[in-house]
Amino acid sequence: MKLEMAHLYGKSGMSMPVDLSEQIEDSAAYPHIVGFMEPVKIEGILRNENECFILEAKGETKVSLLCDRCLTPVATEIHFNIEERFSHTGRDDEETETFSGDQIDLADYVKRGILEALPMKVVCREDCKGLCPVCGKDLNTGDCGCDTTEIDPRFESLRALFNVDEEV
Ligand SMILES: [Zn+2]
Ligand SMILES: [Zn+2]
Repeated sequence: MKLEMAHLYGKSGMSMPVDLSEQIEDSAAYPHIVGFMEPVKIEGILRNENECFILEAKGETKVSLLCDRCLTPVATEIHFNIEERFSHTGRDDEETETFSGDQIDLADYVKRGILEALPMKVVCREDCKGLCPVCGKDLNTGDCGCDTTEIDPRFESLRALFNVDEEV
């Protein structure tokens, strides 16, 4: 995802619209994301201010995340902002990112935006029953008959402690 810079050179005060779209095929670099269901779209404006280039853009995409309880993929819309100041290598000051050539690769900024916008947890539905802690069956598809009724997940760690004590 590249910003073409050359048309803004030498035109302080000018701005141009930014409208980019790219499908991310490899989600391996994105922890928790199973896959991208829609291209990443970036829309905004790029402004030349005394040969410092200011990008203000909104990004959106739709990704597939795993349900926190049952591990079913859940389609999740992601919205993020990119606000960066760029300047050519050699003209840089402390507040700008630098670039060389006539393009700025937005990949890193897009990635950061997406990762910061990821929800901590998603559930496929509010009343998702999750997986059976004993046999692993998806309890949304029916009961498995395992004896788990006494276990409140909040006491799971406590129970583990008691079990350790019993074994000693
Ligand atoms: Zn679920
Ligand atoms: Zn079970």
